Amino acid sequence: MQSIRGMQDILPEEIKYWQHIYFAAINTFEIASYQEIRTPIVENTELFLRSIGEGTDIINKEMYSFKDRGNRNLTLRPEGTASIARAIKQHNLCNEHQVQRFWYLGPMFRYERPQHGRQRQFHQLGIECTGTINPMADAEVIYLAQHFLRELECTQWYIEINSIGSIDHRNKYTIDLEKYLSQYIHDLDEESKNRLFINTIKILDSKNQKTQAILDQGPQLINYLDEQTLNHFHKVTSYLDSLQIKYTINPKLVRGLDYYNKTAFEIKTNSLGTQNTICGGGRYDNLIEQIGGPAIPAVGWAIGIERLLLLVKNTIKLQEQPLSYYIATQGTEAKKYALKVIPTLQKYQIKFEIDFSDSSFQKQLKKAYKKEALICLLIGLDEVETNTITLKWLNKHEQKNYNLEVFLKNIQKNTKQLCIEQ
Ligand code: ATP
Ligand code: MG
Repeated sequence: MQSIRGMQDILPEEIKYWQHIYFAAINTFEIASYQEIRTPIVENTELFLRSIGEGTDIINKEMYSFKDRGNRNLTLRPEGTASIARAIKQHNLCNEHQVQRFWYLGPMFRYERPQHGRQRQFHQLGIECTGTINPMADAEVIYLAQHFLRELECTQWYIEINSIGSIDHRNKYTIDLEKYLSQYIHDLDEESKNRLFINTIKILDSKNQKTQAILDQGPQLINYLDEQTLNHFHKVTSYLDSLQIKYTINPKLVRGLDYYNKTAFEIKTNSLGTQNTICGGGRYDNLIEQIGGPAIPAVGWAIGIERLLLLVKNTIKLQEQPLSYYIATQGTEAKKYALKVIPTLQKYQIKFEIDFSDSSFQKQLKKAYKKEALICLLIGLDEVETNTITLKWLNKHEQKNYNLEVFLKNIQKNTKQLCIEQ
């Protein structure tokens, strides 16, 4: 049996990085008053149809949808924002006059061709700031994204930002763009040709140079935005300037989800080949209302953890706790006696490993060396009978016998001392 194509096990060696990222997220976001939220992996398919938009790649070809035994149309969530919008509405988590901040981390599912940095089950870490149209919120979420990357020693990235206006602005623009591009339909790349009458605006994303040259001469989205939208964008960039956050304005940046309006941004890297977007986000002022909730504006982003790890795995400094005690025993009585030590080690968070075998002390010591333990606790019949415990310092070839109660009473102090002595 094998795991499903595009869905990977995360093995213990790898999990260390995931835990590091999770704790870095807690530290970064909770300090900024973002609260963690977890929503179910499965939602009604309709939620995504109504939020992500029918012409998008996710809805057209990437959804993991199925019917359950009750004949309900369900989908494994392809992203986190729609579910959070649903939770906000369902539990009345915010209103128009109240700012709420959330963060999340969890698996997402998209039926895409698996490749480097692209999987069918992948994970996103994201934040959402709801309840305000203030451009300062846009700046706050962008600030937190770049701050989080810095915390992880990730430096190989750049921010691109754009204003994509409202649906109305984009609809007007799309009509003109479609008209303009239709004249050059034979010169467009294949993918753009296919998109022309379905998801015209996504052609801006094309990597094809000829298509890009044609676009450069055509209508520009910025000219379709109203005063208020331009003003908002100007404020966002000026806040970023005061935060000394570097960005480039990319007038062709559009996102793959329909719910965004005004601010859209991406954090990209040059180090990952074609899968070069690590973080995508923007403002979504109409989403919560669109799925039947109150009109609550919001802004947020999501980072792909697998892609992030491809970038930072070599630079993250993991703080691994050393194995303080390897516990070697001989015989059933010694094993029972050894169990008395465990609760104290657990209480003081001192890392230990018990050898379950009945092999010779010599063999067990060999294993202790291999595991790079600081100390091997030796417990045999002698120790049981004299109510003591023998400590063997593995790098000094020194050993000492202690009274068990004295050892346990001083274990915190002793272990610290032992570590220093190492
Ligand atoms: P892409 O253009 O790479 O497909 P996207 O625009 O579909 O990205 P978003 O929906 O904005 O991506 O998701 C935010 C982030 O989630 C992406 O920047 C990326 O890091 C990550 N991501 C998206 N799809 C996948 C996937 N199939 N496998 C791994 N990571 C992904
Ligand atoms: Mg995609």
